[in-house]
Amino acid sequence: MPSTGVAPMTRRHILHLDFDAFFASVEEILDPSLKGKPIIVGAPPERRGVVASASYSARAFGVRSAMPTAQALRLCPQAIILPPRHKIYGEYSARMMAILSEYTPLVEPLSLDEAFLDVTGCKARWGSPEELAHQLQERLAAELGLTASIGLASNKLVAKIASGLEKPRGFVVVPHGREAEFLAPLPAEKLWGVGEVTAGSLHEMGISTIGQLAELPAAQLEARFGRRGRDLHRQARGIDDSPVVVEREEKSLSRETTFAQDVGDPQVLRKKLLVLSESVARQLRRRGLRGRTVKLKLRYSDFKTLTRQVTMGTPTDLEQVIFDQAARLLDKAWDRATQVRLIGVGVTKFDTEESQLSLFEGAGDGRIEKLRRLSQSVDRIRQKYGDEAIRRG
Ligand SMILES: [Mg+2]
Repeated sequence: MPSTGVAPMTRRHILHLDFDAFFASVEEILDPSLKGKPIIVGAPPERRGVVASASYSARAFGVRSAMPTAQALRLCPQAIILPPRHKIYGEYSARMMAILSEYTPLVEPLSLDEAFLDVTGCKARWGSPEELAHQLQERLAAELGLTASIGLASNKLVAKIASGLEKPRGFVVVPHGREAEFLAPLPAEKLWGVGEVTAGSLHEMGISTIGQLAELPAAQLEARFGRRGRDLHRQARGIDDSPVVVEREEKSLSRETTFAQDVGDPQVLRKKLLVLSESVARQLRRRGLRGRTVKLKLRYSDFKTLTRQVTMGTPTDLEQVIFDQAARLLDKAWDRATQVRLIGVGVTKFDTEESQLSLFEGAGDGRIEKLRRLSQSVDRIRQKYGDEAIRRG
């Protein structure tokens, strides 16, 4: 047999762990009288919030994440609405990640309550991947009081889909070599990157399950979806070589707000843009990041959403620069006839601090340096006396 010169990839054991109804479950721990009741964590309907998390007894009424709270309350009028407490959820998340990293250094957090673990090399110490998974579920329940669902497979794609299938407290194992068979009956929307638009195109092609998708020739998918068609073809057959990545680089920083009532007044939008720009800039400085690209996000009253961005020659962490760019994008993008429901500002394309130093040394841009010194002293005052200490006039 001719050698390809490439060592065959070792069989991997990838575990995806996802807490069940995380925010709502933490609220139940903090107030045991809530246990078993329909709980919705999210902003109330008068602030036009959406459901961030719902307990299983609320889900029994059809309540789902990302649903407007108003709609959730129509389905389940007796639901108890609680405002999200992200700081506390963050503490639970940190404790979970600490427990996970006792089993393997290869932990990739996906969100506050989800992570991938590569447990391929863990057998000697923790037993088979299945045994390890059971231990994990039991430890998280005993130490944090939270239940988690786990998917175990040869890759991330299949493990993540598996963990979602039997919630809560699910445990789904997909044996090596059975990935395609496992995926075949599931709806195509379960695959990464198959959103509403792609799903719509697939339905037009008569495709609803992953199995049907897997039968299409790669060339046909490529002709229809370009390069992504090839990925779809591989994914549909359960192939995913992506590694568990330990350090997740922060790729963007953004803040957005949904107005209590749709806004048509440009002054109100500019004011909100300034507040959001300040918040983004402060976070950038706190993390020692500067970015070259400023993004604006607008959602209109009809939910149509658009984003616009501009890339600058010099990376920034200054609210004035971010605001100027965002305001310019707003002027260009917004027709002023349509009411705005949500506005957001983000910064991406980060440079590290070191690579920026040389750029500023001797650059002689007095205005920028002055703004930076001002921002830094404002940060120091805020750190000492809190965010409310300084308000822009
Ligand atoms: Mg979850």
